[in-house]
Amino acid sequence: MFGYAGKILRIDLTRGAIEEQETPEKLARAFLGGRGLGAAMIYRELEPRIDPLSPDNVLIFMTGPATGTPLPACARWEATTKSPITNMYLCSSVGGFFGAELRFAGYDGVILKGRAEKPTWLSIIDGKAELHDARELWGLNAEETEIAIQRELKDRRASVASIGQAGENLVKFASVQVDLHSLDRGGSLGRGGTGAVMGSKRLKAIAVRGHGRVEVADDEGLIALTRELVEEMKRNKLVQAFSRWGTPQFIDAVNEGGLFPTRNFQQGIFKGAQRINAKAMRKQLVKRDTACYACTIACGKYSVIAKGPYAETFVDGPEYETLWSFGAQCDIDRLDAIAAANMWCDRYGLDTISTGNVIGFAMECFERGLLAKKDVDGLELKFGNHEVLVELVRKIAFREGVGDLLAEGTRVAAEKIGRGAERFAIHVKGLELPAYDPRGAWGMGLAYATACRGGCHLKAWTLTAEVFTPKYDRFSTEGKAKLVFDLQNTRAVVDSLGVCLFGSRAIGVEEMIRILAATTGQNLSAEKLLKVGERIYNLERLLAVREGISRKDDILPPRLLEEALPEGTAKGIKLGKKEFNRMLDEYYEIRGWDTEGRPKREKLEEFGLPKLLEE
Ligand code: SF4
Repeated sequence: MFGYAGKILRIDLTRGAIEEQETPEKLARAFLGGRGLGAAMIYRELEPRIDPLSPDNVLIFMTGPATGTPLPACARWEATTKSPITNMYLCSSVGGFFGAELRFAGYDGVILKGRAEKPTWLSIIDGKAELHDARELWGLNAEETEIAIQRELKDRRASVASIGQAGENLVKFASVQVDLHSLDRGGSLGRGGTGAVMGSKRLKAIAVRGHGRVEVADDEGLIALTRELVEEMKRNKLVQAFSRWGTPQFIDAVNEGGLFPTRNFQQGIFKGAQRINAKAMRKQLVKRDTACYACTIACGKYSVIAKGPYAETFVDGPEYETLWSFGAQCDIDRLDAIAAANMWCDRYGLDTISTGNVIGFAMECFERGLLAKKDVDGLELKFGNHEVLVELVRKIAFREGVGDLLAEGTRVAAEKIGRGAERFAIHVKGLELPAYDPRGAWGMGLAYATACRGGCHLKAWTLTAEVFTPKYDRFSTEGKAKLVFDLQNTRAVVDSLGVCLFGSRAIGVEEMIRILAATTGQNLSAEKLLKVGERIYNLERLLAVREGISRKDDILPPRLLEEALPEGTAKGIKLGKKEFNRMLDEYYEIRGWDTEGRPKREKLEEFGLPKLLEE
């Protein structure tokens, strides 16, 4: 099987058993790898309606055929599981070095089941997997864990995916941190609570190291393609902008477009944007650029704060979303405070989008009198108060005081607060929304509502087509269903091959066809490759439907449908229910789903679902 290591590890933590299985060739061909193959394995391995934090949940780490090849921007791999914050299917993508090392160690993926009797960590070194006692690591943060494991292995090049205290304490949006300390660019399995799932399994970390290689179908073709892509990335202005500015480059354009959510989505313009934008960051914080395995883009920005109240802050970031979540969302324009909150999220293992979102939500509840000072441990929880950020991050990670309430995420926190707080909880299916107000780009609203893991911007990012180089009227429903459909299918392919979204500005469908051919030998036309993306999206919908998800869940928070933005270029605009439903109906039609959002039998048969998964 060219393009695959050919083996997957199966770890039963309850029994302490380690087994190997062959990578299922038929599924790999039908779903490529990464997200697609992970979703297929989840369909097979996971019983519906189980508690995501019970031993019954399954956590799968899966690489794609491009992961760990010399191709630039191809270091990505994917986790799939059932999310504790949405109670449905979750896929989460990350880069760093872990995916490449896993393949060099001889495996395409790892399936984790059960719950260990005591804290445990797993090493996977050159074809040998071992479980280790992690009682001395339990209670450490993710960075300390990584350092301790590398010391134990006597290998600073070992790649480590670990949880911090937030995962141990089952914070519903706890992350898994990957290569946080010693390798160049790391990342987070951030969204949806993968860290809590790992914590519920008492699995503190996985360390991987390998010295092998994955055989590909066409070595020469792969090397030629690598050279071409490296050259193209040097030429391509969009890619160069990533190298220079990273994701923070988007702040100015989104703010000028009036859709930079501010004060918990009450406004679309952040007055302090220039104090936290890419230029400010580069000038004040950034010390060097960082890169994932074999990536020439180096979009990571390693930042240091040496002076002031947040001195001794060292963080790879903040990214655009984090600058927003602790910045505009909380009305805070201090880069130092944002960077410090980011660093502690990474160390404790918390998703920065959900953490900042839930803090902004709590600030609004506080200002509206729904949370009193006594409810928030005496904190002055007002918008703009940077002094509460780091303290709240800590409280959430340790579930201390008000942190215990916020650790449940905005949906549950709002239900517990009651008295109308639900209106201020900005999420879709329980997953807190990221940094684009859909009232300023209506396609983004449809993208959030139909994203396979809840309120996510990454499954179909419509901003280029709606705002930056607009091909569509952003305040119209026209063409948005097809736009979201196409973007979702393409993104499913990107995530399943192991390609990085940021590199996809230079790696389009034609390049992905060549990557697939050079690695696996599989030759697909553009149409067929995108059909694979559509197959993956239908499978993910099937996973959602069997958890009870339907049209009633494919909605936006009331604020975004009923209230107009108060200022800026999107002033007075609201995305009404009628318009939203028009887009949703059209989207279901294009997808071949019924009016409740369930894939029709003919559509499933077209993709061999679910039969293909039951063989
Ligand atoms: S573009 Fe950035 S996130 Fe993507 S692989 Fe390269 S360094 Fe990693």
